[in-house]
Amino acid sequence: MSRDKILLTPGPLTTTLRTKLAMLNDWGSWDADFKEVTAKLRAALLKIIKDNGEYAVVPMQGSGTFSVEAAIGSVLPQDGHLLVLDNGAYCKRMALVSEKMGRKTTMISFPENEKVDVETVRAQLENDPSITHVGLIHCETGTGILNPLKEISDLCKAKNVGLIVDAMSSFGAYPTEAGELQFDALIAASGKCLEGVPGMGFVFLRKAIIEDLKDNSPSVALDLYDQYTYMERTGQWRFTPPTHVVVALYEAILQYFEEGGQEARLARYQANSDVLLAGMAELGIKPFLKEEDLTAIIITFLAPASDKYDFTTLYDVVKEEGFMLYPGKLTEVETFRVGSIGAISALEMRQAVNAVRFALEKMNIQ
Ligand SMILES: *Cc1c(COP(=O)(O)O)cnc(C)c1O
Repeated sequence: MSRDKILLTPGPLTTTLRTKLAMLNDWGSWDADFKEVTAKLRAALLKIIKDNGEYAVVPMQGSGTFSVEAAIGSVLPQDGHLLVLDNGAYCKRMALVSEKMGRKTTMISFPENEKVDVETVRAQLENDPSITHVGLIHCETGTGILNPLKEISDLCKAKNVGLIVDAMSSFGAYPTEAGELQFDALIAASGKCLEGVPGMGFVFLRKAIIEDLKDNSPSVALDLYDQYTYMERTGQWRFTPPTHVVVALYEAILQYFEEGGQEARLARYQANSDVLLAGMAELGIKPFLKEEDLTAIIITFLAPASDKYDFTTLYDVVKEEGFMLYPGKLTEVETFRVGSIGAISALEMRQAVNAVRFALEKMNIQ
């Protein structure tokens, strides 16, 4: 059977037929038609954050991490000091990126099942005036927890330190509005809640800092300043653009606005997530996070406490039924993750829960 599986993963995810069809043409990278798509895409991205003229957006080739690396290398000065707020795997990855880019990095760690604590961050900033920037993961996809972006943004603004936000898995579903926040860089990618295909990221930069980024990046390919100035001057990407990914993302964003934008997208994901949570509860499977900390992006579930449980069997049976699960990312406890994002609705989530029920029966659990 050639039917595509439904991806219950936080990117790549299930896309609409309309988005897939947008990829059937070839485009010349320097041609006016493709430059027009790039310009419209950048304008649409700025519309999503309700930009009031304060921000610019710079698309970047590669997976999301390439854009995180581009943002850190370009925004953090060589003598800067990044404080990474850590409550999971993607936070640790941001700190690793910063170290590899040769930037002074400090990580402040919180338990994986709790949000970043704003008062602890405030105290750290007061204790260490050498910190120039804070790095925050908005939704830590490792567990699914949503960190307090607005509060951290207010704190950084008050303390006059820069803020770099990895909003990869939340962007488009949870609010990231320019009028509510202040950040130096906010990073997201094509293949998450905007429901495009993977292959490019984009970084919103505060225009007031852009001129300071000249000659700052230790990388050629990932230099946001060069990418930005080249794109502003020529309308083109600096190096070969992922043309099919770009046109698919633009087509996906048109559907995003047609659906009703951020609020409608979150409402659909929330409905998916509600069906998932209730269905799993019936099967006796509980989430890792406290109920009030759960998000509509991805839920980490505790594996059934049975010695008959085996993730590979669960994965294989559920895949046979047409759904792809996601392994857990925690070291202390055995978990698996289920994403609620992508071009799917409560209908697919009900079917997915049934597939999990079937797998548990096959493993003779309960
Ligand atoms: C998906 C994701 C990334 C990027 O991962 P890639 O595999 O490089 O696309 C970064 N941060 C978070 C929080 C993510 O969810």
